[in-house]
Formats: sequence, C-alpha cells, structure tokens
Amino acid sequence: ERSAAASGPTGPGVLADGTAVPLLANLGSSDGADAAVALGAEGVGLFRTEFLFLDAGDTAPSVEQQREHYVRLLTAFAGKKVVVRVLDAGADKPLPFLSNAEEENPALGLRGLRALRAREEILRDQLTALAEADAQTDADLWVMAPMVSGVEETRYFVELARELGIKTAGIMVEIPSVALLAEKALAACDFASIGTNDLTQYTLAADRLLGSVASFQDPWHPAVLRLIGEVGRAGAQLGKPVGICGEAAADPLLAVVLVGLGATSLSMSPSALLDVRLSLAGFDLETAQNLAQIALAADDAASAKSAVRDAADTAQ
Ligand code: PEP
Ligand code: MG
Repeated sequence: ERSAAASGPTGPGVLADGTAVPLLANLGSSDGADAAVALGAEGVGLFRTEFLFLDAGDTAPSVEQQREHYVRLLTAFAGKKVVVRVLDAGADKPLPFLSNAEEENPALGLRGLRALRAREEILRDQLTALAEADAQTDADLWVMAPMVSGVEETRYFVELARELGIKTAGIMVEIPSVALLAEKALAACDFASIGTNDLTQYTLAADRLLGSVASFQDPWHPAVLRLIGEVGRAGAQLGKPVGICGEAAADPLLAVVLVGLGATSLSMSPSALLDVRLSLAGFDLETAQNLAQIALAADDAASAKSAVRDAADTAQ
C-alpha cells in the first residue's frame, strides 16, 4: 500500500507527508542486534542493561566486563544511534547487588536512578565503561537514566555523565512528576525518552505486574496521553528529541497518536517494527495531530481508542 511506496517494508519510518519518524529497537542484549537490523531498526532506542547482569550475584560487574558488552552492542550498530539506559534495578527488575528486597512497595522504593545514586560507584563504573566503549566504536551513543522524578535528579545525572565522558545524556520520563516538569527537565539534559509502561503504572496507580489491575495498565488512557503531550510540547519548544520506548510505541494506531503528541522517534520490540512502519506511512503529521486531540478529549482508554480508530478510518 502507500507505506510500501513510501519506504519499503524495512525502510526508515516515515509519515505519508515525508516526516521522518525513526523506528528503533528495544534490546536487552546484543544477541538480538542482527535480527533487529534485518527488520529495519534504524538504531536502538532502549538498551536495558540490567538483563546483562541478572546473574551477576552480589557484586557489580567490573568496568572491563561491562565495556566488553557495550563494545559488542555499539559495533553491531556502527553509524547508528544507540540509547543505553543505565541500570534500572528494583521492583520488576531486581538486581541482587543493587536492590533492596526488603521493601514493602518496591515499585515506590529505592529503585532506578535513586538506587544508583545511593551506590554512586556503581553508576560511575557503568558510565565509565560506556564512555570507553564509545571511544572504541563509531555508533552514536546516547545514555539515559531510568526512574527520574524531577529536575534536580536530571541535573545530577547529566553532570556526572558529562564528567565521565558521555557526550549525549538524557532521562527517561516514566514518573508523572517529571512529565509535569518536562520543560525544566528537558532544558537540563539532551533528550527524553518516555517509558509508557511505568508512566501508565504510576499515573493509574496500578501495579504493572498485578493481573487483577491489568485493565488499568492501558497507555491509551487520556491522562497518560496528556502527560506525554506535555513532554512532546516541551521537546518541540526546546528543540530536544522526545522518543517513546514503552510498549505503547508497538501499537500501530497508538504510535500515530504518539507522533501527533510530539514524539520524534519510536522504539519497540523488533517484531513490531513492520506493522508500526506500515501504519505511520498511512497518515500525515496534521492528521496524526488531529487524532491526538481526539484521544486527549476522551473520557477513558477504551473510548480514546475507539474514537481514534473511527477517525482514522475516515482519514485514510
Ligand atoms: C517503561 O517503563 O516503559 C520502559 C520502557 O522501561 P521498562 O519496561 O524496562 O521499565
Ligand atoms: Mg520503566
């Protein structure tokens, strides 16, 4: 259809009017790199480093061990953008050497950047290993912090990353507080990447691991979309990239809405790339923005989705 004409089944992500929306891969190890490239990934939008260290035991991996992993990853994506997230320990991603198993509410506990900050030597080692791997390879390395809640944490991370040789430093937006302060937070860093899995969990107060509240874990919820829109608007104002790296980016119709809300790139499991690319190619930017307004105006997730689906059918 139109998309095939626009960029081919594995070409770059592009809207019907030619607006580029780079399509990136979420990876947890460099093993999936070749498959992602074959599916047309234009780079990596989220490299989850904690999976490299799940069986590391009670001691953190050394700088040398880490560097080896990162060199492998960056080599597989030579010439491309690779966004690496520093360790996101805690809650659904426990790491024995970094997280506290005693907490009653680990999703609200000392996790992500908070946990790293409490053990700064671990963060320093990881940033050092990343900077060294970057110097040995020629991918475009961006590094971001998970579970950032505000501006002071953003400044802390960016300052430390720069001190240790990271050229491009940003934050994940997955806690509502930082989404609401997006302009200030983005002014203090180079880019943002929205983690819709946790952003939905924290906005709807529904544990993402709990089956009994799974129906609340829906990124189509207009409250979640409003927060995303805040970040998109701030990014456009400041000229800073705003990616999406949560599961929401893998929903072909929601992907269009996210672009309409100001997302400048989308990162997803490689298996979703083909469908999302095809869907984006069916809409121009103005239509995507109109669909975003329709979703924002809905009462709940289900009606946002059905209203956008109806409007999209008419638009195409
Ligand atoms: C997210 O929270 O949306 C995200 C991308 O990170 P993770 O799923 O690893 O928490
Ligand atoms: Mg997350």
